[in-house]
Amino acid sequence: MKIFHLSAECYPVAKVGGLADVVGALPKYQNLAGLQAAVVMPYYDRKFTRENEFEVVFNAATLLGNKRYYFEILKEKTNKLGFELFLVHIPGLLDRENVYSYPDEREQFIAFQLAFLDWISYSQQTPDIIHCHDHHSGLVPFLLYHSKLYRRLANVATVFTIHNGQYHGAFSWEYVSLLPEIDFTQTGLLDWAGGINPLASAVKCCWKYTTVSPTYLTELTISSNGLEYLFWVERAKGYGIINGIDTEIWNPKTDAMIASSFNVKTLAKGKQANKQVVCERFGLNPDKPLFSFIGRLVVEKGADLLPEAIERSLIELEGQVSFAILGSGDEEMELALLELKEKYPGLCDVFIGYDEALAHQIYAGADFLLMPSRVEPCGLNQLYSLRYGTMPIVRSTGGLIDSVIDFGDEGGYGIRFNNASVDDICYSITRAHGLYQNPAQLLALRKRMMALDFSWDRSAKEYIDLYESLNPTI
Ligand code: ADP
Repeated sequence: MKIFHLSAECYPVAKVGGLADVVGALPKYQNLAGLQAAVVMPYYDRKFTRENEFEVVFNAATLLGNKRYYFEILKEKTNKLGFELFLVHIPGLLDRENVYSYPDEREQFIAFQLAFLDWISYSQQTPDIIHCHDHHSGLVPFLLYHSKLYRRLANVATVFTIHNGQYHGAFSWEYVSLLPEIDFTQTGLLDWAGGINPLASAVKCCWKYTTVSPTYLTELTISSNGLEYLFWVERAKGYGIINGIDTEIWNPKTDAMIASSFNVKTLAKGKQANKQVVCERFGLNPDKPLFSFIGRLVVEKGADLLPEAIERSLIELEGQVSFAILGSGDEEMELALLELKEKYPGLCDVFIGYDEALAHQIYAGADFLLMPSRVEPCGLNQLYSLRYGTMPIVRSTGGLIDSVIDFGDEGGYGIRFNNASVDDICYSITRAHGLYQNPAQLLALRKRMMALDFSWDRSAKEYIDLYESLNPTI
């Protein structure tokens, strides 16, 4: 069975968040299970694209409105990622450093999708499944089934995975001329609330859609930035499949990005050694429980609650806790955290930016990982922290509900709270602080965390079952 995964991100080529981790791992595990899974993504001007060798497998031009863009499809020569990697290279439009946030993002991702469709259409390839991820490839199902240009591919099954239902990529109908010739009797399939909405269109047109956790599937019918009714109507073709983690990359035994490797037997020593390194880097006292946060500083992640929660915890627990924060995002949140760092040196430190290796080191060295998310479709941080024996403190939402059991409940190993509020975060920090006073109990819980299996094997199989249910031709 041949699958093309279409995505804006893929680790290690270009990563902004969890989407990259999933698209960099799922195809690898699908190939191990005997499928032929490949990834197609834009060519960005980044370290990976500069340092690896590619061959041109196709070139042509695509029309975006009245502008013609020449493009190449580049294939990474070695398949070293565990899957074929194809990059859509559109000079002047896609070959930039960042993945998102350019003023012509709409044109960028439409062109990416059209170039992909032109390529597989003209090169006579017929995959069994086109698996689109998030709104950046959300127009593909509509175009496959309702544009004359791609009629040859009209029987190809499409699966659409929602990694984040808050972002829709919507734009006004005045830009419809950027699309190729479409069947104008079907424009309702592109529309939501009077605009072209790629996420909504994908949900309407794909054969099946998935969310990255079972709980998130239900949550989208209650909160999805205006698409609640759509998710309610279409719920029969939705599936919730929890993400796995790439256990080759995220393995405390072999992780080259952490200072001291460890396994479940050497956990106590390994955690201590890694904590020492994190505390040196952040100027903190390693004798105190270390709380961390890694992620985008946005409201969705509850990052706006952190400054007050940290300050209050420092006061209430009389400075007997410490905090290391790694993230970037909203400017106000960045500033509030930096102010806290100034105010509480030696107790709270903040690194504003993106640093993959530092993230690994923090997962390995922290005692607790804070995730006060308002929305969390799956969440990978809690899965990584569990693998490194770091207790996640999570708000009960989305995939966090599906992957973290409170240590007060049977078989539990984490801390969960209900409200995205300063009160709930502080209360959870106090519980964690209490637990830290009982090293034997904490060690036993850490061992339980490390024994959990969140590898891709199980979830990759669920995707394969889903593909097979679509009766692909081969
Ligand atoms: P989302 O995709 O919503 O941002 P996820 O939990 O699904 O959240 O995935 C976040 C991924 O991005 C994890 O691999 C996490 O370690 C990584 N990450 C987020 N922010 C940073 C950062 N500032 N530096 C390094 N890694 C980060």
